[in-house]
Amino acid sequence: MPARILDGKAYAAEIRHEVTRQVAWFHSHHGQIKLCAVLVGSDDAGRLYAERQRKLAIVVGVQYELVELPEATTQEELTTTIDRLNVDRLVTGIILQLPLPAHLDTAAAQYRIDPYKDVEGVNPANIGWLFYDEPIIAPCTALAVTELIRRSGVTVRGAHAVVVGQSRIVGRPVTMFLLTQMATVTGCHIATRDLVAETTRADILVVAVGKPHLIGIEHVRPGAVVIDVGINRVTEQDAAGKTVRRTVGDVDFDAVAPNAAAITPVPGGVGPLTVAMLLRNTVEAARKQLDRKI
Ligand code: NAP
Repeated sequence: MPARILDGKAYAAEIRHEVTRQVAWFHSHHGQIKLCAVLVGSDDAGRLYAERQRKLAIVVGVQYELVELPEATTQEELTTTIDRLNVDRLVTGIILQLPLPAHLDTAAAQYRIDPYKDVEGVNPANIGWLFYDEPIIAPCTALAVTELIRRSGVTVRGAHAVVVGQSRIVGRPVTMFLLTQMATVTGCHIATRDLVAETTRADILVVAVGKPHLIGIEHVRPGAVVIDVGINRVTEQDAAGKTVRRTVGDVDFDAVAPNAAAITPVPGGVGPLTVAMLLRNTVEAARKQLDRKI
């Protein structure tokens, strides 16, 4: 039987409705919610992403401001901007658009964002709280993965989950989330000796690497649930021999889908959920700022 397609767009629409109601409630009881994105330099992808954020923020009733800094911004100037937003009582959430220009230290800038305003959940303090299963604001993409699994009714408790890719803001937080939800988790990375041997043990396989078609049919146990986080732009020939650009995941969808129980498409799987989680985190930030613990 072909796999159930886990429709990230449909789940994202559900979450947007929930967030819209929460924003309206917060507005009538406590005031406006405002999201600020910082964009350094003239990166077109960053501006496009910011425009998408703005549209979605407006849909759910959140104010949005893009703070643009020149390409030559120094680390000190970036820090000053983040500090200003940290203390601005009208600003609920701060996003730092990546990539930053090469001369800037991304981790240092992320570390500077107030953990209560860090709506992407990238501050090490927020990632650290995951170990206590008490995140203030959890990393968006990892949240998107677990929310997708939860909404699709897949049982995590007792399942064997394998997470391929162990980056600080995606793979490792996903690993920790699944562990705290009582899955038995294997974390695979570049030094994993036999990837096929590990991934074929998975009831739930999460792939977050950034390599097109890394996972083929030989990596997936029949009946597994496959969550593809990867986003890769590839150049291919279409049926007519024309060169086309396409977005694909890390999983060879056409090969794996007939064998899996459920699978996320790319695009249209984890991606839309990640943006929805950003908005949900913004409401969460607004609520938690009313009752800070650090
Ligand atoms: P990243 O920081 O580059 O991390 C990739 C991870 O995969 C690293 O731990 C890397 O190890 C590991 N890796 C590399 N080759 C491997 C291999 N052959 N086998 C096993 N592990 C391997 O990337 P990221 O930020 O985690 O993002 C991963 C992918 O998800 C990218 O395609 C990104 O565009 C996408 N993404 C999607 C969303 C979404 O909303 N859908 C959000 C964020 C990211 P080393 O560091 O040792 O090389």
